[in-house]
Amino acid sequence: MVGLDVDDVLLDLMPRWLQEYNEKWDDNLHVKDINDWEFWKFVKPECGKRIYNFLKPEMYQNVKPLEGAADFVQAIRDRGHTPRYVTACGDPKRTTLHKAFATAKWDALIRHGIAEEGELLLPGRDKSHAPVHMLIDDRIQNVNDFRNGLGVLFTQPWNRSSYLTRPRSYEDVLELIDRYARHIPE
Ligand SMILES: [Mg+2]
Repeated sequence: MVGLDVDDVLLDLMPRWLQEYNEKWDDNLHVKDINDWEFWKFVKPECGKRIYNFLKPEMYQNVKPLEGAADFVQAIRDRGHTPRYVTACGDPKRTTLHKAFATAKWDALIRHGIAEEGELLLPGRDKSHAPVHMLIDDRIQNVNDFRNGLGVLFTQPWNRSSYLTRPRSYEDVLELIDRYARHIPE
């Protein structure tokens, strides 16, 4: 089983998020400017952590996939591996919102032809023990904390400070999956 993070690994969340922020706060922030996970530091100080208020389930109606995401997941299936969508859905204690995020992300994955009916989305903020053999994620902490197999840091501007090797493209990730295949039994 190959664990795939959803936000900014399969769905292109950050550009949409920045678009909404730039419109509301009259700014011109680009994805490439965000070189740290704490991305409230890059927005106008008067906005600050309110940047996280933009993150709502409804946002996923307008989030596009990363280019090639559907083909990438199909290539994983073609290799005989099972994709699992491992994704944080906000505060798990806020049950209604947590479910709404999970539903919104799943609907977006289906709508863009990335996920198939019958596959599983695993919601959760702590991915350290996600039941997958490999985890592909753009958050340094998630990759460092993953305990069940190989963590792979998917290249994004906000993880460039990591000392980990970062595959630059889906092709590079597939190469790693092939190299690690004997540790991925299904
Ligand atoms: Mg992510």
